[in-house]
Amino acid sequence: MSQLRLNPLTGRWVTVAAERAARPGELISRQLPVESGPARECPFCPGNEEATPPALETYGPGGTWLVRVVPNLYPAFEGNEPLRVQNLGPVFTQASASGVHEVLVFSPEHAHSWADLDDKHAGLAMAAIRDRMEDHARRTTVRYTQAIVNTGREAGASLEHPHGQLLGIPFVPGEIAEEEAGFRRFEGSCLLCTTIEAEEAAGHRVAYEDERVMVVCPYWSGTPYEMLVLPRAHEVHVTDAAPADVAAVGRALRTVLVRLRGCLGGVSYNLVFHTAPHRHAGPFHWHVHVLPRITSVAGFEQGTGVMIDIVAPELAAQHLTVVG
Ligand SMILES: [Zn+2]
Ligand SMILES: [Zn+2]
Ligand SMILES: [Zn+2]
Repeated sequence: MSQLRLNPLTGRWVTVAAERAARPGELISRQLPVESGPARECPFCPGNEEATPPALETYGPGGTWLVRVVPNLYPAFEGNEPLRVQNLGPVFTQASASGVHEVLVFSPEHAHSWADLDDKHAGLAMAAIRDRMEDHARRTTVRYTQAIVNTGREAGASLEHPHGQLLGIPFVPGEIAEEEAGFRRFEGSCLLCTTIEAEEAAGHRVAYEDERVMVVCPYWSGTPYEMLVLPRAHEVHVTDAAPADVAAVGRALRTVLVRLRGCLGGVSYNLVFHTAPHRHAGPFHWHVHVLPRITSVAGFEQGTGVMIDIVAPELAAQHLTVVG
């Protein structure tokens, strides 16, 4: 029997289609290589630093870098204008796409991914994300910053070299507005602090935990092997989190990505870092979504926003902890 489960963050129902449950080997678990122009050198490899605009920030031991943040050469958001909405007719409304678009090159090793980072390096990559968030928050025209890592072609990566992106945008996007509404709807205490307690008690959806972080395959998973990385210390903004907690999230991500690879081989995935909009005071609890791209989003999901998950999160968590 399929089951409907409510995602309390977004307020949307998901369908866990248990009778369609696939064993890990039956899932499409390939990762198509990201195409790179044969004649083009990788702009993110050490030695090619001139191929990108000058770095905004570098991290690493003197003289070398392990993590490097550069402006995106083809920014989707650019400039310092405040959001000024113009109505050009009854149904034509526009505003300028001002903001910031940066690239986070989080390793000098071309063939590596977040799963290959050692403890210290994983912490450094997270610290870089935190620092950029702080920088963006100082700009009054940037309302929200989305940090992402796309790994593999199915996840939308355009270059093979391990990198993420930070997009500072002049409005609060729908997904975050929905999550904020989820936190406000949840009465009593924090929705995600409660999730940590409830999943700790249940136990069987926990994919990884230590004293600072819990990673669960959420009860309301919309996609196979989806994970939610939850810092135990409640903070609304990642910029207010203790450096040790920020680093611990980077390490936990690395650990569960190694386990994901152990379960399914190399799969494409998106990492989505969610923190509250800048200068915002409402309820939130920063977190990271791990979204493997194993199944494709088809017409039903596109048309309704209702996800169908063919691997129950309980089963995914079991596989992930067995390989760990
Ligand atoms: Zn490279
Ligand atoms: Zn909380
Ligand atoms: Zn979220």
